[in-house]
Amino acid sequence: MNIAVINSGSSSIKFQLFHMPEKKVLAHILVEKIGEFISDTILEYEDKKLVITSVIKNHHDGLEEIISLLSKHEILEDFSSLSAIGHRVVHGGEEFKTSTLIDASVLEKIEALIPLAPLHNPANLEGILVAMKKAPDVPQIAVFDTAFHSHMPQEAYLYALPYELYEEHKIRRYGFHGTSHAFVLKQTAEILQKKSEELNIITLHLGNGSSACAIEGGVSVDTSMGFTPLEGLIMGSRCGDIDSAIVIHLHRELGMSIDEIDKLLNKKSGLIGICKNNDVRTIIELGDEKSQLAIEMMVRRIKKYIGGYMALLGRVDAIVFTGGIGENSAYIREMVLESLACGIELDYAQNKRNATIISTKISSVKLMVVKTDEEQEIANECLSLLKN
Ligand code: AMP
Repeated sequence: MNIAVINSGSSSIKFQLFHMPEKKVLAHILVEKIGEFISDTILEYEDKKLVITSVIKNHHDGLEEIISLLSKHEILEDFSSLSAIGHRVVHGGEEFKTSTLIDASVLEKIEALIPLAPLHNPANLEGILVAMKKAPDVPQIAVFDTAFHSHMPQEAYLYALPYELYEEHKIRRYGFHGTSHAFVLKQTAEILQKKSEELNIITLHLGNGSSACAIEGGVSVDTSMGFTPLEGLIMGSRCGDIDSAIVIHLHRELGMSIDEIDKLLNKKSGLIGICKNNDVRTIIELGDEKSQLAIEMMVRRIKKYIGGYMALLGRVDAIVFTGGIGENSAYIREMVLESLACGIELDYAQNKRNATIISTKISSVKLMVVKTDEEQEIANECLSLLKN
């Protein structure tokens, strides 16, 4: 059966077509710069890659373009023949603890969550509505970034703020990147030939956006991103953890508006704030004083989370690296792992090779590199929902 996965952003649609259960990718289409003067569409299938420029006014036109390319290149003749369409939805709030078949009431609830994810949920919703129009008889399934973290205990998800803010305004830790952490957990279990439920692991999704997750018995029990994806690790342009009084100071003493502070923390901080660059590969190559400082700060924060999660979990079977940095940068992994102590031993040669297992045989904790694939996980979720 064919399952499509749609990741709809504010000005882009990422589309992937899978043949399931074989997990074969039949096509990958990226429509970018929707609503701008000229839009780019990149189609990859078999060994081919096509780049098309055209005017794509909105998400509806974007999906029309995708459907027409699939048919023109004989990848998928009839869009309505799909067995399911899986949608990435960033915020599922407290409502959605699992992937869900979309109906009118689900749409309403996703819309009601917009205040918690004003940048993401409207775009996700737009993608769903357009796909529903184009394929009204195909089951549409929402897969939420927050769902994997929805079983965290209260002591992990509550902030030490007045309890009413949680009760009345739902201010709490939600966590994000859940689809990636869940996928990496399953892959790790497969590699270690264990059941997910048997594993205590720490997953580190390190990319332009980064998060750490403490997984106990296959369940996320803590994660570094919080009410929004701003909290936690130092990221490409996001500050991660800071003293929240800085926000008050920026407003009161420096006269910055809320919008300016929002931009400062989300777009101008993190690595870019320290060394004016958010690309870890380039920062490592540059290697000047500020670049080194930025990397050292980022690594220090990762170590602090690993230490904290080890203390929380007690027994840790594996520390697993994923995401653009986690999967590719032996340099960063070495910096993170070399002085962790507690009998954790890095195999430097295996690490340099980006091998799957990068710990020595006698290491007390397995150190691993696992490639993430959020689209694949969404297709997997669709398949298991269709089966039930
Ligand atoms: P992502 O957001 O997961 O696509 O990850 C993007 C980040 O991964 C960027 O900071 C890239 O510089 C970084 N990255 C990708 N490949 C490498 C590499 N070989 N060495 C260091 N960083 C890398």
